[in-house]
Amino acid sequence: MGTLRLVCFDLDNTLWHVEPVLVRAERETWDWLVARVPDLAICFDAAWVREKRTQLLRARPDYVHDLTSLRRDAMREMLLASGRDEPTATRTATEAMDVFLHLRNQVELFPGVLDALERAHRRYTLAALSNGNADLKRIGAGRLFDVVLSAETVGRAKPHPAMFERALSDAGVAADEAVHVGDHPEHDVLAARGAGLHAVWANPLALPRPGALPADVPALDRFDDLDDVLERLAADAGRRRA
Ligand SMILES: [Mg+2]
Repeated sequence: MGTLRLVCFDLDNTLWHVEPVLVRAERETWDWLVARVPDLAICFDAAWVREKRTQLLRARPDYVHDLTSLRRDAMREMLLASGRDEPTATRTATEAMDVFLHLRNQVELFPGVLDALERAHRRYTLAALSNGNADLKRIGAGRLFDVVLSAETVGRAKPHPAMFERALSDAGVAADEAVHVGDHPEHDVLAARGAGLHAVWANPLALPRPGALPADVPALDRFDDLDDVLERLAADAGRRRA
């Protein structure tokens, strides 16, 4: 690494804890649906919709690149099964998805994230690479990212290299000048390394270190340490090359 120029970040469970957000968003979207279509509650529940998502994904694995369509189509299937006609089912499912996406972006950033991103933004090109459907603009961090990519916009989910390659070409940097910071051992760390980038394992939830992680991958436990971790990574890479 000559100079570190591009820092990519995963979003869910890297910049915020996603599971509590999804649980609440699913519950409140269900409440919204039942308020709109009360007889849904007689034969269906939120678990039915989850099971329908699993079935749809099994039938059409490419849904993994478009989780918004997967969620919307599962709700649409339920509305059709409840006797609604096609236009009504489609319209109601689309409105329910708007409710879900609003709630899904009500995230609470991990401590230190915003300050660390502000500092990094002054120094590096920043990219967001997510398999999920978070919206950085709605979250209020959009202005800090120069490149924003998702499985839905790129058409391939991590660990596929497409999102990493797009980030490099959009930022105009070589893989060796880029690092990806993410929580998932395979989808983030190993996938980034496979695409030639450096990698940092984000561990804001203080999980045990996964055995799949190579020993030389640095861990980021607190965002306050981001500058130090990136500087050390760049120095180590420079030394290895010298
Ligand atoms: Mg993640």
